[in-house]
Amino acid sequence: MKDTQYKCLRCRNKINPNELVNGRIQCTYCGYRILEKARPRGERHIDAL
Ligand SMILES: [Zn+2]
Repeated sequence: MKDTQYKCLRCRNKINPNELVNGRIQCTYCGYRILEKARPRGERHIDAL
């Protein structure tokens, strides 16, 4: 689970969980608090046609 990354839904930057303070889920760039969990690498990428 360490590889789980978060993606800010507002500025779309990727946030490394190591940068989160005390496990607070908050964008370190814009401060937005709604983040999407990005799957770790190695997972298949599914693109809509
Ligand atoms: Zn953000």
